[in-house]
Amino acid sequence: MASRRIGFIEKLAARSFQASLGSNPHHVAQLPRFAACTLPEVQQRRYLNVHEHVSFSVLQKNNIPVPGFGVASTEEEAREIATSLDSTDVVVKAQVLAGGRGKGYFKGGLKGGVKLVFSADEAAAVAGQMIGDMLVTKQTGKKGIPCNKVLVCERKFPRREFYIAIMLERAFGGPVIIASAQGGINIEEVAAEDPDAIFKFPVDIVEGITDEIAENIAKKLGLENRMAETVAVIKNLYNAFITHDASMIEINPYAEDTYGKMYALDAKMRFDDNAWFRQEEIFSQRDDSQEDAKEVEAAKYNLNYIALDGSIGCLVNGAGLAMATMDIIKLHGGAPANFLDVGGGASAEQVKEAFKIITADPQVHAIMVNIFGGIMRCDVIAQGVIAAAEELSLKIPIVVRLQGTNVDDAKALIALSNLRILACDNLDDAAKMAVKLAQIITMAKSANIDVNFEIPV
Ligand code: ADP
Ligand code: MG
Repeated sequence: MASRRIGFIEKLAARSFQASLGSNPHHVAQLPRFAACTLPEVQQRRYLNVHEHVSFSVLQKNNIPVPGFGVASTEEEAREIATSLDSTDVVVKAQVLAGGRGKGYFKGGLKGGVKLVFSADEAAAVAGQMIGDMLVTKQTGKKGIPCNKVLVCERKFPRREFYIAIMLERAFGGPVIIASAQGGINIEEVAAEDPDAIFKFPVDIVEGITDEIAENIAKKLGLENRMAETVAVIKNLYNAFITHDASMIEINPYAEDTYGKMYALDAKMRFDDNAWFRQEEIFSQRDDSQEDAKEVEAAKYNLNYIALDGSIGCLVNGAGLAMATMDIIKLHGGAPANFLDVGGGASAEQVKEAFKIITADPQVHAIMVNIFGGIMRCDVIAQGVIAAAEELSLKIPIVVRLQGTNVDDAKALIALSNLRILACDNLDDAAKMAVKLAQIITMAKSANIDVNFEIPV
């Protein structure tokens, strides 16, 4: 699921994260989700990925040249854009939130998510094939991602392709610019076979980008002959990164065409979710169709949801408690089906929505609620759990372990509810019980036996 958005830069970062963190499992919570290539994936989503056309608009605003472009949702729109562009050679590009489009394929048979065409009619025909189909790339999994829009842009004739990216990286304690003179679709191979061809330039976040750093980058890229222009582009890129609260900008390729002009021909951007109120224009362009439906639903209610492979749905407050809950489930031989964090001050309504999301997954055979009531009151959680169990007529067992504020009121509410909710004080007992119950339900389901789960009153 999450792995589909792993870009080259992220893999690189994951490697240095791991190098800097070693194998201490307690650090896993701090790792960005892309680090999941080799570590267990448990990370709340805290960023927004945008389509290439949104990134192009941001670059344009920041004086970084991009080819003339437009976005189309229909064949007709694609034809109009292609006609209005300065060149008859145009490129039609699938707008999906995944890298590796050039080497991808559509389920309907079209090869490649980046197609060169030679007329407006052809642009329309290719757009028609892409729109409504699923694009599969190295990063999407076999299912692919729906392509609902295409970017139609001028074709340039690159003679050199560079790679330039900026991201926040823990290993450097701030932003780092990553660059290579060997950009283009094979950058991952370059990184694997010739890592020295990829340069990293950390930037002091307080000092900002200096002429010296930008000049060094230009030299490493072999762009001394266009020093002033390259320095300006790198500085503009860095300023765009800071002013838009980005956590990653990746331009690949940044290309020199046969007329000697430079363009960003592809751009991926990611923004810090906490900055949504400062970046409303960008955040209003979030494309939910590209994201996991349950994560989107959870985000609507301000819940953090991550799907996992096991059979026990976990409802917790706080990432730390989530990690502990999952650890203890594993310790007792079970496997979590998800990670659903209701945060610090969830309402009964949010808890109910959380249950809906958890139980929508048929893999979930038991639910474990582990809440530490601080700001979050245990009685509010209990009300939410009871409302959810009643409204959704839940058939699977719910083990609830509550501690903290108003815990006695919570227990009283649960006891009075006469529902199939098991309250436990002790985390260890709660986990053991959830694991056992999930095993029973799993076994029963595999034998096609309907288990009527009742708590003796
Ligand atoms: P992805 O990285 O998802 O594969 P890109 O947008 O980088 O997609 O496109 C893949 C390759 O297609 C680029 O490396 C570049 O060589 C070529 N390309 C992309 N856009 C253009 C363009 N406007 N003109 C000419 N070539 C392009
Ligand atoms: Mg690219």
